Amino acid sequence: MDKQVEVLFENWRKRNIAGLYCKARDLAKAAVLEMIPKEASIGFSGSKTLEEIEVIKALAARGNKVFDPYKAGISREESLKIRREATLADFYLASANAISQNGEMVFFSGYGNRTSGVAYAKNVIVICGINKITANIQEAMTRAREFATPLNCKRLNWESACLKDGRCHDEICRFPEYKRMCCQILTIEAEVSPGRLRVILVGESLGY
Ligand code: SF4
Repeated sequence: MDKQVEVLFENWRKRNIAGLYCKARDLAKAAVLEMIPKEASIGFSGSKTLEEIEVIKALAARGNKVFDPYKAGISREESLKIRREATLADFYLASANAISQNGEMVFFSGYGNRTSGVAYAKNVIVICGINKITANIQEAMTRAREFATPLNCKRLNWESACLKDGRCHDEICRFPEYKRMCCQILTIEAEVSPGRLRVILVGESLGY
């Protein structure tokens, strides 16, 4: 662990957020599988990082009940219902859009399931690559809005104002002309319940 990461972990400790460092994605996946009992239910929000780690697939394969709102062939209503159920699962998995060196974490959401799940689920595990660390909360917000979200809009062909040129046009990104992705923003500053919120920081670049 380098000095920057050590400082970040110390800041999480002071904020009552449990941090675990894993050098590589396979170690992070193994850590999640160990933290979560086989009989636990799982909720999650869409994330390139979770896809790259293949952790949801691994949990489903070993028999955990997974609330998956992205499965093929389901209606929009069914997908939204599963997103609501997912926030009540035993464990909720997500990635942050950015993490400040001070330990704050920023989550953007389109439907609100990610912000709800991270803020209130029974047990939360956030998984992030070191590429998401920023110097401060202002830079974390900038990263989320001007870097991560345009790339996510492109990945999902989401018809927002940043889809074409990859730049945020907050002032015009309104319905019905555009389908805005940045509808809810959550900043985690600290946690009250010990052990509820855990972060696995992976020592490689993951997601956007
Ligand atoms: S406000 Fe709109 S244009 Fe800006 S990043 Fe969010 S979705 Fe893209």
